[in-house]
Amino acid sequence: MVRMAFTLALCISIVLWFCVGPSLAGPQTGKGDPVTSTVIAAGSRIDVTINTDEASISQPSVIKWVQNAADSVIAYYGRFPVPRYTLRVIAFDGSGVKHGTTWGRMGGLTRIYVGSKSSAEDFGDDWMLTHEMIHLAFPSMMGEEHHWIEEGLSVYVEPIARIRAGHWTALQMWSDLVHDMPKGEPRLDDEGLDHTHTWASTYWGGALFCFLADVEIRKQTKNKKGLEDALRAILNAGGDINEDWSIEKTFKTGDEAIGVGVLEKLYSEWKDKPVQVDLDAMWKQLGIAPGGGTVRLNEDAPLSAIRRAIEKGSGAEKPVPAAGTASAGPDEWRAPIAIFAGRTPRVR
Ligand SMILES: [Zn+2]
Repeated sequence: MVRMAFTLALCISIVLWFCVGPSLAGPQTGKGDPVTSTVIAAGSRIDVTINTDEASISQPSVIKWVQNAADSVIAYYGRFPVPRYTLRVIAFDGSGVKHGTTWGRMGGLTRIYVGSKSSAEDFGDDWMLTHEMIHLAFPSMMGEEHHWIEEGLSVYVEPIARIRAGHWTALQMWSDLVHDMPKGEPRLDDEGLDHTHTWASTYWGGALFCFLADVEIRKQTKNKKGLEDALRAILNAGGDINEDWSIEKTFKTGDEAIGVGVLEKLYSEWKDKPVQVDLDAMWKQLGIAPGGGTVRLNEDAPLSAIRRAIEKGSGAEKPVPAAGTASAGPDEWRAPIAIFAGRTPRVR
């Protein structure tokens, strides 16, 4: 979840040997066997290494999980964020996914730990890999005080991206957000997002900022544009994780693309003082009625159309390749495909 400067000299010798279709028939990795596979996602290349020093793990399950996360990110951004991405999976004895970390090095690099006993449900429920891939789609902020937007963005966009790809449900997302979003409400003695470096402010304060920005953009554009349009514009202007941008340049680029100054205005209001948000009123306006540990969605609320647009987006668009990738034919826009490569990559 945390990003930092990092240099890793890793040279992987890959011998591509065959393409595998949706059945993903592949080997169970044995203990101690590092495995390299490549997933092609909307023209981008995801190189996956699986370290099995501690435990063995199902290679097809890991690759399917990678494909689903890539699928989600593509559904939100219209493309995979970077042309080449390296994913280092480290298997541990246990279940679930933990300790994801992403760096703006090698074109985009993530290290993440996956339990050898993870079930299909564990992989299906995982949000962390999608969260890490979303970091690829935003510039590295110049200044540690802006870390909240990097994390808040990934927290807010991740469930939406998974809904768009059919890997999560809107009902589940709103239920989770009603429970978790209050963690982002500032305390009265907080000093704004740039100066309050608690976990709650960084992750959920940042997510609350993104949520408000999304709703406000949709209000001001009569629901024709949303936060995703600003984020796609930032990415398409070259603002991926490999680039260091100021927060001012980032928000200006986003605002110019959507034609309304929402991000810059919100930032000026939130950066150095605690802004109170009436979340209960927002849920009501959006048609989200909490109760009994879940929510009920009301389609007749004043902003229920905005809620649906957040869930579904402005329409299914054909993915475009990341800058630097070769143009792809129609067949490549289907679900990400996997290419299993040599099982013992040489590291020099
Ligand atoms: Zn993160």
